Amino acid sequence: MNLFAAIVVSAMLGSALPAAPAAAGDGWIVLSNDLTAFEQPTGRWYIAGGARMNPKFERRLLGEPGQGTLVNGKVGVTGNLVTRQQWGDAEVLLEFIIPRGSNSGVKLHGVYEVQIFDSWKVARPTGADCGGIYPRAEMKPTYHHIDEGIAPRVNAAKAPGQWQTLYIRFRAPRFDKEGRKIVNAQFEKVVLNGQLIHDHVDVAHPTGDWHAPEHAKGPLLFQADHGPVAFRHICVRPLPAVPPSKKQQLQEADFNFRGPLGSDGARLVRIGENHFQLTLGHAPTHPAWANMVQFEILRHAYGNRLRLDVRFENGRREYLFDDYPLSWSCDGRNWWHIRWSPGGVKGKARTLEFPQFAADRVIVGHQVPMSYDDAERLIAGWRQHPHVRVHVLGKSLGGRNLYRLTITDPSSPNPPARRWVHHFANQHPLECCSQWRIAGMIDWLLSDEAVQHRQRTICHFTLMMSPDAASHGWYRTNGQGFDMNRTYRAEGADKTKQAHEAYVFQSDLEALMRSEAPLTTSWEMHTWQGLMDPIIRGQGPEMGKEVGPWEDLKKLLAKYDTQKLSKPLTAVAEPHPEGHWDCGPFRQFGITNVLVEGGSDADMQQNLDAGEALMRAIVEYYRGLRPGQ
Ligand SMILES: [Zn+2]
Repeated sequence: MNLFAAIVVSAMLGSALPAAPAAAGDGWIVLSNDLTAFEQPTGRWYIAGGARMNPKFERRLLGEPGQGTLVNGKVGVTGNLVTRQQWGDAEVLLEFIIPRGSNSGVKLHGVYEVQIFDSWKVARPTGADCGGIYPRAEMKPTYHHIDEGIAPRVNAAKAPGQWQTLYIRFRAPRFDKEGRKIVNAQFEKVVLNGQLIHDHVDVAHPTGDWHAPEHAKGPLLFQADHGPVAFRHICVRPLPAVPPSKKQQLQEADFNFRGPLGSDGARLVRIGENHFQLTLGHAPTHPAWANMVQFEILRHAYGNRLRLDVRFENGRREYLFDDYPLSWSCDGRNWWHIRWSPGGVKGKARTLEFPQFAADRVIVGHQVPMSYDDAERLIAGWRQHPHVRVHVLGKSLGGRNLYRLTITDPSSPNPPARRWVHHFANQHPLECCSQWRIAGMIDWLLSDEAVQHRQRTICHFTLMMSPDAASHGWYRTNGQGFDMNRTYRAEGADKTKQAHEAYVFQSDLEALMRSEAPLTTSWEMHTWQGLMDPIIRGQGPEMGKEVGPWEDLKKLLAKYDTQKLSKPLTAVAEPHPEGHWDCGPFRQFGITNVLVEGGSDADMQQNLDAGEALMRAIVEYYRGLRPGQ
């Protein structure tokens, strides 16, 4: 069997992969000689010498006499096979056969699934097709997918009734001493029938029931309750851990302040063993506003505890120390809050003491950071949905795209003029928690639960009004130093009197107001300390007339905010200062304006969840259709 393994790996990797195959005898464990490797009982699974599609009933398999093939019963439905042994990093090699229309899967650690499905000749495979990394799902109220999974790069599936080969090289998630995950699980390579279908794909959560716990080790699971399947030549081999670099003290050259999350003008000086002093630069035209602490450790972080004394020489503390947590990450997906250590010189110098790093590369950013690259990746994902239109309104001063996303069902029977129209925008850069909140709103609005709402609403989203700031560390400002929320002009957009990017977005908003589907509401998405904090700054004519009083919206938000991530909605009647986005559209057009603040203590998932709760409340409050003209 070792010989078989070597031959198959050679055959599979030879065409698609440059890596050298494993040599025969290198520690492969064979699982398919009998059923002893698996948790008992094994239900209707039986040992056969082969399997083929039943020519008289192509939805069934026929087992053949002999040994070496595992078949999931005569009808093809029984309990899953789960190995007794558990692995961390491992490679798996197997062959499978399914009849027409069948469905199975192989789950690493019992929770990360590579789908097996009859996807022969499917033109555009998805995460639910053969070789896909299966979608995530919520179990309540009933099982439903909440993402699309990860599609294979190509459809490599063979016809039903043919044996197919699958090779998986898998890296387990990593955890720190307190048991918190610091590196995601990863499908390093997945090869189906000799074709590379996944290459270094992270899985941030279990597939299917994504609340399932993740561990450093787990069993292999072969799915048997969705349809007929047979496996043979199942071989598994633990992988040696990727050796971290030999522990080495951090040096100044290991830090980068010019990456996608950067900080202009930062100066770093080593003052001891893994101990540095960081002096921050300031925002354009604002000498008293420090740029935020954002950097990347490119190498040598493993095993070290970084101590960073942060100073701001201009001596004022606007928006810097204590106001918000920072976050650090080893993989750019899982983020851990870090707060200023006690002590230091109030408003001038404080210290960050990091835990021991478990990886060589570390990213540190403001709040739960979102880089411009992250935003573009999110937008590239959303635009796959047929109900999303992505508008590029222009360029920022730094040459980045200024995006507005529109979500509505283009084939809805409701004319655009009868749909409720909402506009959501983040003005202040680096108020990243509000950007994740917007992402949560979009994710939910594109889910199957919101099908009806997409037919009767139009939602516009601006994830980043000032996309140049994340790579410079500018908090609240654009490249001209304008405080972005202060440059709405209720008198009308004026190129000479406002921030360049704010002018582009206000001009677009004015064009939307002149369109056949003018805005009903404008939502300004910000972050400050504590829970999400929505405040109505101006009530449009629909409130209390075409829809219920604003307190109805407050009740709906409380209903959907099951995790208590939000303060109760409030409404203010105070006169609004001029020139703010959070009241400008109300002053200019009389439409409802809502300021949504708070959320800085929440992690990424909690901000996504808070956004979902807010979106659910809004579409339910704006029920039915907008009254006809
Ligand atoms: Zn703000």
